[in-house]
Amino acid sequence: MEDPSGLPLPRLRAAARGCRACDLWQNATQTVFGEGEPAARLLLVGEQPGDHEDREGRPFVGPSGALLDRALEEVGIARPDAYVTNAVKHFKWVPRGKRRLHQKPNAAEIGACAPWLEAEVAAVRPQLLVALGATAAQALFGRSFRVLAQRGQMLSTVLGLPGLGTVHPSSILRAPDEEAYRLAYQAFVKDLRVAATVISGG
Ligand code: SF4
Repeated sequence: MEDPSGLPLPRLRAAARGCRACDLWQNATQTVFGEGEPAARLLLVGEQPGDHEDREGRPFVGPSGALLDRALEEVGIARPDAYVTNAVKHFKWVPRGKRRLHQKPNAAEIGACAPWLEAEVAAVRPQLLVALGATAAQALFGRSFRVLAQRGQMLSTVLGLPGLGTVHPSSILRAPDEEAYRLAYQAFVKDLRVAATVISGG
């Protein structure tokens, strides 16, 4: 496998198609690499592709992606102006009848996939990184990061760029009722507004 560091995005994407650095490729349909503006000021990192993303080969195209798009639009960021990726590039799942249930990637899998994320960040060179959820936050801020206590705060990432963490949009979709959903969505938009202010120089 070619060393990904220093490669431009099209070559990174092509190289990642053949990655076998952990076992997750075996049960996934394809590598789901990041996409978006190659010189984006904002780079958002999720956990891993979900069922829709695995089938389509693109990040954040399912219900979580729709919610993310709506929230980004509310703070004045168009999805194509950002770069969106995941900490882990293959879908990890377990069968439940006919469904494929998401399973959280472990630290070894996050570590195995880290060179792809590092190479994407190096290629895009964004102004700000945003971690969506605990797995992405672990990849960007280390294991001591606590999403609920530290969300929306400007911090240094392990990749040497500033970043902030917030929840994963899928956690908002799991809200137990309408009021919980409304509050969770508002808090998410508030965190993204901090990011929008930073990249606009405000
Ligand atoms: S999850 Fe990441 S490290 Fe594991 S095989 Fe896929 S691309 Fe490679």
